[in-house]
Amino acid sequence: NKQVLFKDYVIGHPKEEDMVLISSTIELKVPEGSMAVLVKNLYLSCDPYMRLCMSRPSSESYTDAFVPGKVIVGYGVSKVVDSGHPDFKAGDLVWGRIIGWEEYSLITLTEHIKKIQYTDVPLSYYTGIFGMPGFTAYVGFYEICSPKKGETVYVSAASGAVGQLVGQFAKLMGCYVVGSAGSQEKIDLLKNKFGFDDAFNYKEEQDLTAALKRYFPSGIDIYFENVGGAMLDAVLLNMRTNGRIAVCGMISQYNLTQRDPVYNLFCLISKRIRLHGFIVPDYEHLFPQFLEKVIQYVREGKVVYVEDVVDGLENAPSALIGLFAGRNIGKQVVRIAHE
Ligand code: NDP
Repeated sequence: NKQVLFKDYVIGHPKEEDMVLISSTIELKVPEGSMAVLVKNLYLSCDPYMRLCMSRPSSESYTDAFVPGKVIVGYGVSKVVDSGHPDFKAGDLVWGRIIGWEEYSLITLTEHIKKIQYTDVPLSYYTGIFGMPGFTAYVGFYEICSPKKGETVYVSAASGAVGQLVGQFAKLMGCYVVGSAGSQEKIDLLKNKFGFDDAFNYKEEQDLTAALKRYFPSGIDIYFENVGGAMLDAVLLNMRTNGRIAVCGMISQYNLTQRDPVYNLFCLISKRIRLHGFIVPDYEHLFPQFLEKVIQYVREGKVVYVEDVVDGLENAPSALIGLFAGRNIGKQVVRIAHE
C-alpha cells in the first residue's frame, strides 16, 4: 500500500519534502466483526485548507491538524472493496473528507463518507463541483452574499475550484461579475469559458485599489473573498453602501508566520458593509438541495467545470504545494487509480 505521510509541522511555505512516500502492507479485507469499510482510492483532492492542517494545532484553526508520521488525510473519491457496514457494499463508489493519501484505506469513521448517487458525470467532480468546493461556492454565494439581480460581484482566486463556480452562479443570477487571477491563461478562462464580464491579472496591477475602481466605477455590491491581505483592503475602499463580503478564505495569509494587517475596516461602518466569515461544514443540511440544483445546471450545460488532473500518488505533494504558487488551472485533483 503506497502512502504519503506527513513529516512534521510546517512553518512558512510548505515543500514537497514535508511529505514522504512510503510502501507498507495492508490486508485487503475488513477485520472480522468490524463495521469498517475498506476502499480503493481513485481521486484525491488538493485543497488550500490542507496547509492549515500542516501547522501546529492552534485555537485559531478551524480544522484538525495532520499528525506527524501519519498518512495525509483529505477529500477524495474511492471504491468500496470490502465492507463490514450494512450501508456499504463492495463496488459502491463513495466520497468524503477522511480519505487517506494512499492506495487503500480502512475507514472506521464511516459517517464521514457518502455514497455517490449519480455516475453520469466524471467521478472526479465529487472532489470539486459536486464536493466540498462546489458546496462552498453554493453556500457562500446564495446563503452568505444575499445576491440580487443586477448587482456587481467581484471574485478573487476566481479561476480556482470555488471561484469559477461563484462567478457562474452570479452570472446565472443576472449580476455583473469580474474576477481576478494570477495569469493570462486564467484570465482567458474567466472571460471565455466561465462567462465573467471581465477579469484581470492581479499580479500585473501596481495599485489594486485603482484597478478595482477601473472595473467597478460605481463600486462593488458583493465581494467573494478567497485571498485576504492587500486585496481585502483594496476591496473595502471600493465597496458600495450596504455591500456584502463573504469571507471564504484568505490563501495569501496561510504561509505567513505573521498575518498582514487590514487597514480599511472603518469602511465597514461608513459603508454599512456586512462582512461574514463561514465554513461550509456548518451548512450540511443544504447539501441535498445543492447537489440537485448544481447537477441540473451541469446536465443542462448552464455551468461548466475546469479541473487540473495529475496522475500518480507520487505527484500529490507537488500538486498540493502548487496551489500556493497558483500552478493549478481549475480544481486540482490527483488521480491515483482507475475505477
Ligand atoms: P483554488 O483552486 O483557487 O487554488 C488556490 C489558488 O489561489 C491558486 O491557484 C492561486 O491562483 C491563488 N493563490 C495562491 N496564493 C495566492 C496569493 N498569495 N495571493 C492571491 N492568490 C493566491 O482554491 P479553492 O478554490 O479550493 O479555494 C479558494 C479559497 O476558498 C481558499 O482561500 C480556501 O481556503 C477557501 N475555502 C474555504 C472554504 C470554507 O468552508 N470557508 C471551503 C473551501 C475553500 P492565482 O493564479 O489566481 O494566484
